[in-house]
Amino acid sequence: MPPPEPAQAPAQPPAAPSPPTTPALNTIPERIRQLADISQNLWWSWQLDARELFDRIDHSLWRSTRHNAVQFLRQVSPARLEQQAQDPIFLERYDRVVRRFELLSQRNGTWFASRYPELLDRAIAYFSAEFALHRSLPIYSGGLGVLAGDHCKEASDLGVPLIAVGLYYHGGYFDQQIGLDGWQSDSVDPVDPTVNPVFRVNGGDGNPCLVPITIAGRQVQVGVWRVMVGRIPVYLLDTDLDCNDKADRSLTARLYASGTESRLRQEWVLGVAGVRMLRALGIQPTIWHANEGHAAFMYIERMRELIEKGLTPPQAKEQIRATSIFTTHTPVPAGHDVFSFTEIEQVAGPFWNTMGITREQFVAFGQPGPSDQHYEMTLLSLRLAGRVNAVSARHREESRRIWRWVWGSDKPVDEIPIGYVTNGVHLSTWMARPLRELLAESLGADWEADAEPAAVAAAVRIIDAERLWAVHEGLRHLLFHYVREEARHRWRDTWKDPAKLAGAGALLSPNVLTLGFARRFATYKRADLLLHDPERLRRLLTDPRRPVQIIFSGKAHPADEPGKRVLQRVFSAAQNPSFEGRIAFLEDYELHLAQRLVAGVDVWLNLPRVPLEACGTSGMKAALNGAPQLGTLDGWWAEGFTGDNGWAIPLPKTEGEPDQEDMEHLFEILEGKVVPLYYDRVPGKPSAEWVHMMKEAMAVAVERFTTRRMLQGYVTRYYVPAAVGEAIPGDPPP
Ligand SMILES: *Cc1c(COP(=O)(O)O)cnc(C)c1O
Repeated sequence: MPPPEPAQAPAQPPAAPSPPTTPALNTIPERIRQLADISQNLWWSWQLDARELFDRIDHSLWRSTRHNAVQFLRQVSPARLEQQAQDPIFLERYDRVVRRFELLSQRNGTWFASRYPELLDRAIAYFSAEFALHRSLPIYSGGLGVLAGDHCKEASDLGVPLIAVGLYYHGGYFDQQIGLDGWQSDSVDPVDPTVNPVFRVNGGDGNPCLVPITIAGRQVQVGVWRVMVGRIPVYLLDTDLDCNDKADRSLTARLYASGTESRLRQEWVLGVAGVRMLRALGIQPTIWHANEGHAAFMYIERMRELIEKGLTPPQAKEQIRATSIFTTHTPVPAGHDVFSFTEIEQVAGPFWNTMGITREQFVAFGQPGPSDQHYEMTLLSLRLAGRVNAVSARHREESRRIWRWVWGSDKPVDEIPIGYVTNGVHLSTWMARPLRELLAESLGADWEADAEPAAVAAAVRIIDAERLWAVHEGLRHLLFHYVREEARHRWRDTWKDPAKLAGAGALLSPNVLTLGFARRFATYKRADLLLHDPERLRRLLTDPRRPVQIIFSGKAHPADEPGKRVLQRVFSAAQNPSFEGRIAFLEDYELHLAQRLVAGVDVWLNLPRVPLEACGTSGMKAALNGAPQLGTLDGWWAEGFTGDNGWAIPLPKTEGEPDQEDMEHLFEILEGKVVPLYYDRVPGKPSAEWVHMMKEAMAVAVERFTTRRMLQGYVTRYYVPAAVGEAIPGDPPP
């Protein structure tokens, strides 16, 4: 079985559409020619020293391209490149980066290679409907995509032989535009191929790789793109090809296209064409991991293959279960796709004929019970993946409770074979540069690759308090600078009303205790919890001696009307003069803004209604940057809160309507604990207790809530046991 492909320059596509060749790429001096290769692998996006190279070449261009290496090399002046190619200091740094870059194509020397050398030739296919890899590639909507992107980056760092499969939504997700009335309207945000290292993939014959599938009775050709994320190839499927029927060309255009049937078609492409694409490229994975149920048709296509090879359906099912992993990501019903039989019949029919089974047998995989007329992707996954995990300890309990009936309700809950691996965040993506540099002083330059998490936590705890505070203040000022500049540009380009300027953070002060709240605007996340008592909130924010300010950001799903109403409420509060400009709403939340925000605020708010947040990751990102979380005891916080790394809202005593109680607790903690602790200090100096809490937030996050710990969990408890054929724990659903 082939190893993951080395990080060489991706194959150039012979046919359109491909990014036009770059004038600047042709003028890169020979001596520093590999800058082009580096720019074509998103590896540079989390490497400080690689980023620094671009910064040294042209600081202001690096900034104005918003740290995009592809765009940068397109625009940089040849004279500047020539100059750097003569500069010994630059060349020394360049050579060092190139040496590290070249290590990506070596299989040895990684965490995975040293522990599992015999498994290096196996491939783990990782399917996800979204990937957040870089701001320039809008093929994600929120937490699920960020998790998948971080999973790939960490797999690269650890040398895990992962091959990722997703969809190329060339029309992107959406750009958020908010009217004066606070109502979100959604405009397109297409992928710009000139700023992305995404390339069409060719098959063995040198022509673009195309795989055929049947959708709704029509043959559709599916094309493939590839983006390299360090060692990990991410293959993205699309149907926008001349040879396809017009209607089919837009199948993969938009992330989460509206309407269940188009969604079903996309999932059919992801699952079925995803498997066929890997086969066409000669990649034979040993392990197959579906990140959420969207990708579950991948199990079905593999069953079809096995049956075609002569296995009986039960034998095929057993083999699929032994090699498949399924991660469930939410207890919220809207997160689980359900399709009607009619839709399944329309889109997938008559696939069952090619599997040698009946339509009834086919739909039974996703059918809750014999009398139901719908098909659930999560059920399909629970039945066909032998290894199933939730994404936090608390979410495992919820998932076992929710899905227990699948195993028969007389089975004790703790025997339901659903495990958990708590989500994490990719440290080098989410910890801000000045903090990483601070830690490098005690841990050495290569600490991000080499240091043990416990050693990092220990190093965090002995950082000099005043230096940590100074770095944090610097990051906070950077955030405010960014917020103001964004507001200035939008004021110039699109906004007509000054209220928008105030509401977008123009009146924020960099010296005031700043709370951050940013994530998708789903109602259960309760962005508006504090707004339930506007007068008390006004008193909190506008206290003349110890003021508080809040920065909000986030998009509502285009079809989520209640979520849009919450957003509208927050948005109008930001423009309400009685809050004196101490609430800001930042439009268009995405990866880059998230990075700024988690690094620049003082406290992170996380207020999901228990137990609806499966994990939540933005609080981990904030914690990595020394912003303690104030949150309900849900998801990761139920296991991450230690007593001195933030604050916890106690579990509500009343069943049913916890909002009032949670809100009271939230205000009490803010007024009675957070504000006094923050302001109880000599001006210009940090409060010792506050810095202690910052360090604890960081230490706990680096030790327990990074993707390093998470991926090692997947490898040791899921990938390796499946790869070596260990028995599946627990009973299959009957
Ligand atoms: C981390 C992140 C999320 C997920 O945040 P949660 O706290 O898990 O809800 C969503 N969007 C972006 C852009 C992120 O960076």
